[in-house]
Amino acid sequence: MPATKFICPNGQKVPIASCLAGCIQDERCMFLPTLRAVAKSLDRGLTEPTVTELIAGVRETYLKKTSNYAVDPQSVLYALHGQAVHTINENHTEGEILSEIRLQDKITSGKFDLFGKIIDEEEGVLGDLKVTSSYKLMKALGIYKEEIETGEVYKSGLRKGQPKTRKVLRYDGVRFVMDWAIQLNYYRILLEQAGFTVKRMFIQAMCRDSSLRTAAERGITRPVYIIPIHKISDCWIQRYFQHKAKLLAKAIENKHLPPVCTAKERWNDIKCLSYCDGRENCPYGQQLRLEQESKAG
Ligand code: SF4
Ligand code: SF4
Repeated sequence: MPATKFICPNGQKVPIASCLAGCIQDERCMFLPTLRAVAKSLDRGLTEPTVTELIAGVRETYLKKTSNYAVDPQSVLYALHGQAVHTINENHTEGEILSEIRLQDKITSGKFDLFGKIIDEEEGVLGDLKVTSSYKLMKALGIYKEEIETGEVYKSGLRKGQPKTRKVLRYDGVRFVMDWAIQLNYYRILLEQAGFTVKRMFIQAMCRDSSLRTAAERGITRPVYIIPIHKISDCWIQRYFQHKAKLLAKAIENKHLPPVCTAKERWNDIKCLSYCDGRENCPYGQQLRLEQESKAG
């Protein structure tokens, strides 16, 4: 089921159609065309699970497919930024690059962003466009902070005699790109099933907070990065998607809530508290919210 309500800045929920017909608050939180675009982006009219839906937690996708839910239109704006970037690229493919085509197989469907000569004259390059945070980019680029000793010691206070340290950025860490790699590899498989040869894969990631000091502190100094994505075996990818598609189909058939999403799918509970569209209908998400409220007093 698509989202049926918007959450106003004061937390009140309003049916999307009522909001579009007339704001129930003193003033609109966004222009009407922006709200219309947000509403349209929420209902893609797809009943079968897509590649991105199967990468998310099975419980989250189950709840989004089977229950009504409310979304904060301001939080959906980031997804709209992503769509705007897609449109900019789509208008400049010069007839030799394929873009935004939905391909399907027995397990799922997925819409790749760009395929063809997207880097240079080499054919068969698959690209995906992301608009993301400096935190996620820092992780994706393998940047991390290390505490090193400065050679000085504290001369007074509780830490007297202890060595002073400072944080330095390192650029040789593990690149956390697994979700992006799984997504792109499935698009690769879909393209190969359709008869194309995919030679290389890349993510073009645009940083949405690149002008902030926190981004520079995370080692993110440019607004856009191109990140190579490696091939994952077809067998692994297909098993992963088959497994999740089966769990989801069974849950929908039996009308049975799937197990709690994994810690990684829940972003260690951060998603459950603020970002998961299924959280209102998820007992785990509700429990976390209650615990957070009681801690806040
Ligand atoms: S415009 Fe914003 S504040 Fe007004 S009803 Fe819609 S969501 Fe609520
Ligand atoms: S609230 Fe958390 S556990 Fe529940 S569906 Fe969302 S991500 Fe999964």
